[in-house]
Amino acid sequence: MRIAIYGGSFNPIHNGHTSLAQTLLQQNLVDEVWLMVSPQNPLKASQQPGICDATYSDRLAMAHIACRDIEGVVVSDFESHLPIPSYTITTLTELSQQFPQHQFSLVIGADNWQRFDRWYKADEILHNYPIFVYRRPGYDIDIPECSLLRVKIVETPLYDVSSTEIRNGLKTDQIHPDVLEYIKTHHLYF
Ligand code: ATP
Repeated sequence: MRIAIYGGSFNPIHNGHTSLAQTLLQQNLVDEVWLMVSPQNPLKASQQPGICDATYSDRLAMAHIACRDIEGVVVSDFESHLPIPSYTITTLTELSQQFPQHQFSLVIGADNWQRFDRWYKADEILHNYPIFVYRRPGYDIDIPECSLLRVKIVETPLYDVSSTEIRNGLKTDQIHPDVLEYIKTHHLYF
């Protein structure tokens, strides 16, 4: 199967995340999207949870809730079994070894593509795995000619929402109602 790895903190997961995954499936670019919930993003500040913050298992639980009715989207805790911080090249290499029957690719937003050269072993990722880049408001997508064969721009609807806004109590209509319920029940964020 063709599987796109869609990594992130998902702190919490919102409609921008889920609709992107659905778009990849609807456009038949891949057969499944594996949503990799990252224990810790190497490029984000250390995410030691404070009293109102979500733990890794909260973030996973909310991702499961948001994706439970979306066929083809698989929520994965694979990175929790890998060394922290979880580097994407390690994840992709381990996945390829453990699931040799699948072809893995990577899906990232234009925001992440702009700083992709800062990723650990970016060249190795680029040479070994196709990359889908989708548009994010405010970020141009510049693909060097030498990477044109490996990197594909995906046209997706733009959702103007971020997890930061949700954590600040904004745009809560942009999350699955049961995720909002989870946030309230577990006294997360706001
Ligand atoms: P934060 O606000 O905490 O930085 P975020 O909303 O950007 O979080 P992440 O978990 O960091 O979410 O993102 C995971 C992936 O989802 C990234 O590749 C990011 O580009 C993408 N993403 C974030 N927001 C959206 C959105 N509104 N639409 C589509 N993709 C998004």
